[in-house]
Amino acid sequence: MDNNFLLSVVIPVFNEQDNVKPFIDALTLAIKKYNYEIIFVDDGSKDKTAAKVKQYAGKNNRIKLIGFYRNFGHQMALSAGYEASLGDAVITIDADLQDPPEIIPQMIEKWQNGIKVVYAKRKERRGESYFKLLTASVFYQLINMLSDTPIPMDVGDFRLLDRTVVDYLKNLKETPSFFRGLVSWPGFPTDYIYFSRKKRLTGKTHYGFFKMINFALDGIMSFSVKPLRLSTYFGFLSGLTGFLGILYKIVERLLHPDQFTVGWTGLFTAIMFLGGIQLITIGIIGEYIGKIYQEIQNRPRYLIKEKVNFS
Ligand code: UDP
Ligand code: MG
Repeated sequence: MDNNFLLSVVIPVFNEQDNVKPFIDALTLAIKKYNYEIIFVDDGSKDKTAAKVKQYAGKNNRIKLIGFYRNFGHQMALSAGYEASLGDAVITIDADLQDPPEIIPQMIEKWQNGIKVVYAKRKERRGESYFKLLTASVFYQLINMLSDTPIPMDVGDFRLLDRTVVDYLKNLKETPSFFRGLVSWPGFPTDYIYFSRKKRLTGKTHYGFFKMINFALDGIMSFSVKPLRLSTYFGFLSGLTGFLGILYKIVERLLHPDQFTVGWTGLFTAIMFLGGIQLITIGIIGEYIGKIYQEIQNRPRYLIKEKVNFS
């Protein structure tokens, strides 16, 4: 196969100053035989990440930088990268070397055989805490249970997309809060390359417990309205429980009028139970209303402070 195409590599970076050099070394080695552009999207780093990238951009004009004013989040950084990319194939990859650039040629080979979405799939995840593995597994199971779009297991944001797919993403009117789902939704020809996920080179993960939970909720809410249906079921369930409770009390009164107890424990439990269900339901509805509100506000998804090596 000839290498007469443009490859874009998009890398969201947030406080990764010590990873920039080793990452660029590994990446440029892996893709040197291709005609490439490397687009770093600096998601409002507070350290020297942007300065480091600029240093390399000064030496190699195929290394480009988009800098945000502040941290807009990983998915927004990906979004800006897709917008700016010109490649026939676009690869997104993390900067911490957890995603090995060495497998890029294999991904490109698949793409050259007509696959439009090539995911890098994690075979094993060494060096990640049990907690991270557990939360990740709960996340994938929950999202696939609730979502109408299948979300591939153990697949992160390390993937190759054909230009057609990138154009589809760019034309979406919605705020892309969960690219994994958006990419899988249309059912493009898809394949996988397997790799073992290593430890982060330096620094700490930016996805702590609460961020993971929020990310999971974003994913679920943008791909399913099943939680709303679920709250209807909750309503039926608690209504039925209450009704059975009343029947039971009437029967008890009729059969054993002398033993009829007038307690408040039952009452208290019922109120707590129903109160809980009501709050959950209001919360679920609120989540969707919040999403609608954000969409109609139609604010820019991110603001670009600077661009380097874009002609
Ligand atoms: N990242 C980002 N903005 C953020 C958080 C993370 O651009 O708000 C980048 C980060 O620099 C890295 C990639 O997204 O290149 C993945 O983040 P991380 O390694 O923290 O996630 P994990 O691999 O632990 O899931
Ligand atoms: Mg990482």
